[in-house]
Amino acid sequence: MLLTISTTHQPATDLGYLLHKNPARLQSVDIAYGQAHVFYPEATLTRCTAALLLDIDTVALVRSHRGPAGEGFALEQYVNDRPYAASSFLSTALVKAFNTAMNGTCKDRPELPDTRLPLEATVAALPAANAEQLHRLFEPLGYEVETDAHPLDPTVPAWGESRYYTLRLRHSTCRLRDLLTHLYVLVPVLDNDKHYWIGPAEVEKLLHRGAEWLPQHPDREFITRRYLRFAEYVNPTLKRLLTAEEAATDDVSGTGLPVAQTVIPDEKVTGTTQVGSEGNAEPATEKQKLHDLRLARIAEQIRRVGAKRVLDLGCGEGKLVRLLLQQPQIEHILGMDVSYQELVRAQERLHFAEMPPRQRERLTLVQGSLLYHDPRLAGYDAAAVVEVIEHLDESRLVAFELVLFARARPGIVLLTTPNATYNQKFEKLSAGQFRHSDHRFEWTETQFAAWASAVAERHGYRVRVEPLGPEDAQVGAPSQLAVFERVG
Ligand code: SAH
Repeated sequence: MLLTISTTHQPATDLGYLLHKNPARLQSVDIAYGQAHVFYPEATLTRCTAALLLDIDTVALVRSHRGPAGEGFALEQYVNDRPYAASSFLSTALVKAFNTAMNGTCKDRPELPDTRLPLEATVAALPAANAEQLHRLFEPLGYEVETDAHPLDPTVPAWGESRYYTLRLRHSTCRLRDLLTHLYVLVPVLDNDKHYWIGPAEVEKLLHRGAEWLPQHPDREFITRRYLRFAEYVNPTLKRLLTAEEAATDDVSGTGLPVAQTVIPDEKVTGTTQVGSEGNAEPATEKQKLHDLRLARIAEQIRRVGAKRVLDLGCGEGKLVRLLLQQPQIEHILGMDVSYQELVRAQERLHFAEMPPRQRERLTLVQGSLLYHDPRLAGYDAAAVVEVIEHLDESRLVAFELVLFARARPGIVLLTTPNATYNQKFEKLSAGQFRHSDHRFEWTETQFAAWASAVAERHGYRVRVEPLGPEDAQVGAPSQLAVFERVG
C-alpha cells in the first residue's frame, strides 16, 4: 500500500516541516497490524515527494480475526488485498504518522499549515465500484481527478478490469491538512471489506475530520453511510452533520439532500418573505424594495443578453428563479444553494409540486457549495450570484473564484454585494458592524472593484462595476453589481 504526496511549492522541502518528517531519514511507526514507513523519493527545492508505505502483516490480521470476513474460500484469510490496496489501514497510518500535520500545527513554521499549496497525491491501488465513484467523491472537494484502471491479470486481457484503480489527485491551492483529512475519511468509504469495528468513536472521528467539508459535500449521505456501515449510527450522525452546516451558513436544517426539480408560472411576487427580520440592520421595507430592485435589474440584464441557460448560485428561496421563469427565451435554470432548508422553501414558494411537467423541466434545484468544484455548473450562458459572496469566508473566495471563473466559466456573471460605505445610513448599525449577522465581510466600492478586476484579469473576463439602488451623494448606493463578460 503506497501513498505519495508531492508539491512544487517553493521551497518544496517545506513539505518535510509540514509532515514533521525529515526528508533525509526513513522513519517508521507501528500500526495495529504492521508498520508504516515514511520516506522521500525526491526532496529538492523545486519538487518534493513524501511516500507512506504500509507493510501489513496478514498473519497477525488472521490471528486477530480482523481479516476479511469468513466468506469466500478458506485461503482468503491469508491471501487477500489487505497488504496492497488502500483501506482503512491507510487512515490509521495517516493519523499515526502525520497526526501533527492533520491537526494543522507546525511548531517551526506556524504559518505553513494554513498555506495553500499545489499538491498532488497518488494512491497506488484503491478499490472502487468504478472510476466515476472516485470522481464523484473527490471532485467536489476541488481536486482534478485522474484514475488508471488495473486489469485483473495483464496476461489475460479477456478477464477485463479489476476493481482497483490508481488514483491521482491534483489541487493547485490546497492545505496539506485538508488533503490528509479527505483521504482519511474517503479511503475507508471505498473499502468494501467490513474488517473494522464501528462504534461511537467512529462517529466522532467522522464528525471531527469531516467538519469543514463533509456538510457541503453533495455525496455526504453516501459517505456517512459507507463510513459508518451500521444504520443505527447513520441517521443521528447525518443530523449532527446538518447542524454543523447550519452553523456555517444562513440557516439549514432537515435531513437528506434531494436534488429537486421545480417551477411555478405566474404567481405574483408577494413580498411576504422575511427579509429585514432577525439579524438584519436594514429596515424591512427598505430592504425589500432594494432587493426587488436588485433582482429586477439582474433579470433584465439576463433577458437583454438572451441567455438560454442560466445559473442562480446561492439561489436562496428562489426569488430570482421566479422572475427568470417568466422569460420565455430561457430554456433551463439551475438554482443551487448550500442550504437544504432554503431549497425546500424555494420548492414551496414556487409551487413546484403543482407545476406542469414542461415548466418543471426548465428548472433544476440542487444542493451544493460554491466552494467546491462542481461539474454540474459547466455549460451555462449566464450566472447570477446575488448577495452571496459576503456569506463566504473571505479566505475561501479563492476557492469560489476557481469554481466559478476557472471551471464553470459562464458567458456572463452578474454578482452583487453590499456597499460597506453605505452602512452609516443604517441607524441600528454601529461603525464596523455588518448588515447581517451571517455576513463574513462587507466591502467598500474600492475593495469590490479591486477584487472584481483582479478576478476578471485572471480568468479572461471583462468587468464593469455599477452602483445598485438609490445613490447617496456622500456614501454611494446601498449595493453594488459587477458584470463579468467572458472574453472570446
Ligand atoms: N441569492 C438569494 C439569496 C441570498 S442570501 C437572493 O438574492 O435572494 C445568501 C444565500 O447564499 C443563502 O441562501 C445561503 O444559503 C447561500 N450560501 C451561503 N454559502 C453558500 C455556499 N458556500 N454555496 C452556495 N450557497 C451558499
